[in-house]
Amino acid sequence: MAELTLHDVTKVYDDTDGAVTAVDGIDLTVQDGEFLVLVGPSGCGKSTTLRMIAGLETVTDGEITIGERTVHHLAPSERDLAMVFQSYALYKRMTARGNLGYGLKHSTDLKADDREQRVQETAELLGIEELLDDKPEAMSGGQKQRVALGRAIVREPSVFLLDEPLSNLDAKLRSHMRTELQRIQEEVGVTAVYVTHDQTEAMTMADRLAIMDAGVLQQVAPPEVAYDHPANEFVGTFLGSPAMNVFDAVVRERGDEYVVEHDGRTFARVPTGAVERNLLDADVRLGLRPEDLHVDTSLDDAAATCRFEASVTVSEYQGNDNFVYLEAGEQSLTARVPPAVYPDPGSEVDVAVAAEDVYLFEPTTGDAIKTRGIDAERIETRPT
Ligand code: ADP
Repeated sequence: MAELTLHDVTKVYDDTDGAVTAVDGIDLTVQDGEFLVLVGPSGCGKSTTLRMIAGLETVTDGEITIGERTVHHLAPSERDLAMVFQSYALYKRMTARGNLGYGLKHSTDLKADDREQRVQETAELLGIEELLDDKPEAMSGGQKQRVALGRAIVREPSVFLLDEPLSNLDAKLRSHMRTELQRIQEEVGVTAVYVTHDQTEAMTMADRLAIMDAGVLQQVAPPEVAYDHPANEFVGTFLGSPAMNVFDAVVRERGDEYVVEHDGRTFARVPTGAVERNLLDADVRLGLRPEDLHVDTSLDDAAATCRFEASVTVSEYQGNDNFVYLEAGEQSLTARVPPAVYPDPGSEVDVAVAAEDVYLFEPTTGDAIKTRGIDAERIETRPT
């Protein structure tokens, strides 16, 4: 068990077309025993980061430490970590027992009896005792993935690295394995870095998310913090499904509140005290999460600081809730509503928004100006 740190880690690939900065100055501390999920769109540098930690890729610049040890110059086998891949990478000719025992034999001084006991304990932890004498060809995808996990866990590494390990599994098994993986990681208490491009998977599994875009770390935070308080528009729109509605807007009026307009229509009102700086006449990006657009519902007038009309283009039945696609003037919006709300296409609806649910971002940098919530105390104590 150990803390893992990346200090200003950069990776530049020399490509035929020139240099590609795949990872750009990442600073990150993964705490001892933490389950950290590295997430971002395809090509953002997640795998490269993981492979640098593993030692499968050299570091162009920066430092990686595990516990007290600086490891980025060490061979993978000297780093005391184990990696699980999407492709399982099992030894085909060996049984599950052979696969689990092989690494132990070569990486530890354990005696045969102790190795066998470790294999047995790991198999029990993963629920694969029955498979120990089978070869990979006789196993299902889920079983192979368990054996691959077992092979990593049995070595009791300081750090456990997982690169999209569940993406070959079908949806149901995948969801089951997510829960299993979390249970196992918690039981073993190992520091884990898990890479995925799937934001739902990331949100459900992580102690903390490390969200990357274009080689740059955007935010490191627990899922609920990143969701409610994204550092910028990228994080705000990357997390959540359907994605946050974001569009250009301008702040027109102030008395004691800012009125946020687009195309002459008011989409949000926010008390001036809820925002750090003066926004009068500022161009902003307005963000409204689908679940915060209340369509024809009873969000009471006190809570609904803004109401606007919209026409329904499509209502999509989802079972536990519905998605309603709206047009407010020129602006398209997606709302996520309770199952009882299912307005007809072409109908006009009232949409209510509460000030606390309004997100505002800088149009040029994308940095967050206001995220979810309103600090009432700050508003009351703000000098006028
Ligand atoms: P992700 O895992 O987030 O999909 P990667 O880490 O695989 O992203 O890739 C990050 C960037 O580095 C991409 O632009 C990719 O094309 C580039 N890249 C990855 N591996 C190499 C390589 N071996 N040579 C050149 N460029 C690479």
